[in-house]
Amino acid sequence: MNLSVAVVGAGPSGFYAADAMLKAFPCSRIDIIDRWPTPFGLVRFGVAPDHLSTKNVTKLYEKILDKPGVRFIGNVELGRDLTYEELKSVFDVVILSFGMEAPRVLDIPGANLPGVVPVTDFVGWYNATPKSMDCSSLVVKTRSAVVVGNGNVALDVARLLAKTESELVATDIEPSAAEAIVQAPLRDIYVVGRRGPIESNFSFPELSELGELLEAQTSVENARLPADASAAEESVKKKKERNLRVLKSFSERKADDRPVRVHLMFYVSPIEIIGSDQMTAVKMVRNTVVNGKAVATDETFVIDADLLVPAIGYKSASIKGLPLSGNDGAVRNQDGRVEPGVYVVGWARRGPNGVIGTNRVDAREVVSLIEVDSPAAIKAGSVGLDNVLSERNVDLVDAAGWRQIDAAETARGGGGRPRVKFRILDEMLRESKKRVAA
Ligand SMILES: Cc1cc2nc3c(=O)[nH]c(=O)nc-3n(C[C@H](O)[C@H](O)[C@H](O)COP(=O)(O)OP(=O)(O)OC[C@H]3O[C@@H](n4cnc5c(N)ncnc54)[C@H](O)[C@@H]3O)c2cc1C
Repeated sequence: MNLSVAVVGAGPSGFYAADAMLKAFPCSRIDIIDRWPTPFGLVRFGVAPDHLSTKNVTKLYEKILDKPGVRFIGNVELGRDLTYEELKSVFDVVILSFGMEAPRVLDIPGANLPGVVPVTDFVGWYNATPKSMDCSSLVVKTRSAVVVGNGNVALDVARLLAKTESELVATDIEPSAAEAIVQAPLRDIYVVGRRGPIESNFSFPELSELGELLEAQTSVENARLPADASAAEESVKKKKERNLRVLKSFSERKADDRPVRVHLMFYVSPIEIIGSDQMTAVKMVRNTVVNGKAVATDETFVIDADLLVPAIGYKSASIKGLPLSGNDGAVRNQDGRVEPGVYVVGWARRGPNGVIGTNRVDAREVVSLIEVDSPAAIKAGSVGLDNVLSERNVDLVDAAGWRQIDAAETARGGGGRPRVKFRILDEMLRESKKRVAA
């Protein structure tokens, strides 16, 4: 009998885990399960629509999907269509790779006001993630936006808001989102970080891109920039120095007549969102950094803004029977082992950090533990899963169904757009049923 394996989550870590399992256990049969009818996780629904070359990694995942013994089981959600207990009873090995889909939220007065949009919804909106909030009517009226956070996701949000029609055309952005961004009377975009440039998690390419915008100029508060990166840890010093050079170049540029300003602000935190039926401003406090931690001073100021996106991190959504760690919101695990026969990889294991390739290293490490544990091939696997799903009439989407969606989305593209995604789940499901003509 062959080892039956369920990989729950068809994002990068799921594909790398499936690939590593096939290498370690060549006869294993792997079901890659995902809640959406489409694979690729955050490569499809997170990576910015203007970063198309990053998305080329999906070609590798498509090849894994084509390998003998691998099935894609889309539109099946763990916790909704099947329980964790059922999953364990059916598969010899369960690999959890469901990422972190819940946003970390700001815990300050006014954080529930309209205009404050969770990062998952905002990114989901421009990336056409089914069921995410439609932010078009908000963005089309936005004059000033605040993005809280000092990581690449904050830069993605700011950059996309600052782009023009011609900069958005050759992307896979949701067209209605592009339209709202282009029409918005947006003049100021503030990217605010509670600590300094040395502590920020920006990558050099993403930071540099802010200097290449057609109609937006990026500025930074020069007085707050350290002279060098000597305070950084040795392992990241070079990276921080490169970022500092970019920031200095932004701060030295003379103001020009481009209509939009991206303001990079360090050592500041939002402490209150102001407004009655819609946010109108954000009260901020200046911080100092003591032992690596942001400490508020007495100095406060106000930024007028109609939109605020807290890009301050993610945590795993809870699933019955699966304990999460209190510290980082990841699935509780010991080096990737959750309990006998169950393992966790990717963001769900180590938290929301690293680049796509980090998940490959991570998945290989965990699969080497599975080799050590040497599980027995005794459970029903795919047949058992199919029984559970058919008893519940679950409308699953297989690899052929996904490829039909893919072909239709590509056909909807053109004029530089590689594809126009389906945003409505029912539309995706309907499309998946029209099989690609042989
Ligand atoms: C906005 C954003 C932009 C990013 N941009 C870049 C970038 O430009 N370059 C880069 O290298 N990295 C980028 N990253 C990081 C990169 O996307 C992650 O490292 C990577 O996607 C993590 O892989 P994962 O498989 O752990 O999780 P995910 O990619 O999140 O995949 C998890 C999968 O599990 C599925 N799932 C969730 N819950 C369930 C459930 N209950 N049942 C079934 N399926 C479920 C989801 O639908 C999803 O397909 C970005 C991240 C974000 C959030």
